[in-house]
Amino acid sequence: MEASLVRTTSRLASQQLSRRRLYSTVQDLPRTVGSFTDAAPPAPTRSRSVFDDAVVAASPRYDWTREQISQIHQTPLMELTYAAGNVHRRFHKPGAVQLCTLMNIKTGGCTEDCSYCAQSSRYKTGLQATKLSTVESVMEAAKVAKANGSNRFCMGAAWRDMRGRSRGMKNIVDMVKGVRSLGMEACVTLGMVDREQAKMLKDAGLTAYNHNLDTSREHYPNIITTRSYDERLQTIENVREAGIHVCSGGILGLGETPQTDHVGLIHTLATLPAHPESFPVNKLVPIKGTPMFGEEPVKFEDLVRCIATARLVMPATIIRLAAGRVTMPESEQMMCFMAGANAIFTGEKMLTTDCNGWDEDKDMFRRWGLEPMQTDASRFVEVEQEPVFESRSFAHLKDEVPSKATEVAT
Ligand code: SF4
Repeated sequence: MEASLVRTTSRLASQQLSRRRLYSTVQDLPRTVGSFTDAAPPAPTRSRSVFDDAVVAASPRYDWTREQISQIHQTPLMELTYAAGNVHRRFHKPGAVQLCTLMNIKTGGCTEDCSYCAQSSRYKTGLQATKLSTVESVMEAAKVAKANGSNRFCMGAAWRDMRGRSRGMKNIVDMVKGVRSLGMEACVTLGMVDREQAKMLKDAGLTAYNHNLDTSREHYPNIITTRSYDERLQTIENVREAGIHVCSGGILGLGETPQTDHVGLIHTLATLPAHPESFPVNKLVPIKGTPMFGEEPVKFEDLVRCIATARLVMPATIIRLAAGRVTMPESEQMMCFMAGANAIFTGEKMLTTDCNGWDEDKDMFRRWGLEPMQTDASRFVEVEQEPVFESRSFAHLKDEVPSKATEVAT
């Protein structure tokens, strides 16, 4: 074959190839699955699904069935995360991520048997128990957190409950007042609290109370035996009734089955009278000496799927990347933000585990165009001029059941 003919043939082949490539990337050409034709696209036959309704929702709904959440959870991940990102932008300021700092104000010596926890006195983890921190030391740490851009300061004490801790409660009340006086949001996690204790915390100005459900009701007895799921729900109710925002989420990687246990966890929280103000997603940090050490780590795709599902099911809730973020590359963290996460813990420590530092997070924010979320009302965008998102109190939203999404479906 002559050289010119070879050149012509190969040019034609490459033109065909490039035409094929171009053709296959054009979005609006009519095509049928498996081959490219000029035939008209088939008319859509699929009826609206629960996923479709969640994607167009303009307000939260509280009447989810577990089956419906399971259907959303099973959506192909590409579609699920894209949809969650869209819903996220409808309910929250895009790119706004809340910076929280968590201080352990009383370490170790806890009587509970949470099988993942370094602070349980039942396991030999080498952790040194301490007394309750002083109000002064807490204020010092809160000021450092504020100076570094955190706008929520969380305080955790390793206690089963607050019974017989009136002196401790008095100090915590002072800590809460002190943190609030800095213009920061204050959150505490102190184990179980009754109505009276919740009211004391509310009167001190507490913004939020953290009490995680950890996992689904079914899997829970495999993780903790010293307090029941219903006791946890009771504390959540006491906090909510006192008018304090609820922060409640889970730990992924406790040997659970994502398809059932992540769905179960989300279902329980999404069908409470009000959705939690925030939903922390923890990735188990395995602690040597605890029963959970050596568990198979949660797969990243299961973690993202959990976040995206929670975003679609509880659209107004803040989703917090909590423990274990330090083990995630920045690209994974960004995928979580795109799928609906909008809060992180940042600082020197997260309870007893390592935490991504402020400088590292500031660099990440700069690289990706993220910004620290502002406090209170300014954190939400308005949704179709509905006044409900001008305030952070979701309590009144429960009156809106059935939601617009349900109305569309029926
Ligand atoms: S998770 Fe909390 S309640 Fe459970 S053992 Fe640890 S400190 Fe105690």
